[in-house]
Amino acid sequence: MEEHIKLFQKHNLRVTPQRELIYKVLSSSKEHPTVEAIFDEVKKLYPSISLNTVYKALEMFAHKGIVKRLIVGINIYRFDANIYPHAHIMCMECKQVDDIDGKLSGFTEDIKQEVNINSDYEVTSVDILLYGSCKKCNARG
Ligand SMILES: [Zn+2]
Ligand SMILES: [Zn+2]
Repeated sequence: MEEHIKLFQKHNLRVTPQRELIYKVLSSSKEHPTVEAIFDEVKKLYPSISLNTVYKALEMFAHKGIVKRLIVGINIYRFDANIYPHAHIMCMECKQVDDIDGKLSGFTEDIKQEVNINSDYEVTSVDILLYGSCKKCNARG
């Protein structure tokens, strides 16, 4: 059985051709795409699909915890099929989002535990998002 089908079943997600395609498009991207970018790709293979269907599927995936939804602005989301804790950096010029590997990844779990212990909140997710300018934009001056 394909990995994503196992993942869907584990989280009680009904497997539909649309959902499979949306998940595949997202998991094959390293770019932390927006809903619109995912929609553009999915549409090529499934022309009748609507933006709303793609949006709802992604919200469902995020709710079930099989994808990560990054809030990068007011009502602006980017999606990531890599749910292993890791930090991100966004270029303020071109809005490219990249993973930051290394020490910061473990940090997200430490923050979660510390806040769970020291506050009245139960932390459900931790996003570390840094802002900067990428190499390409820097070179452009
Ligand atoms: Zn840039
Ligand atoms: Zn990521």
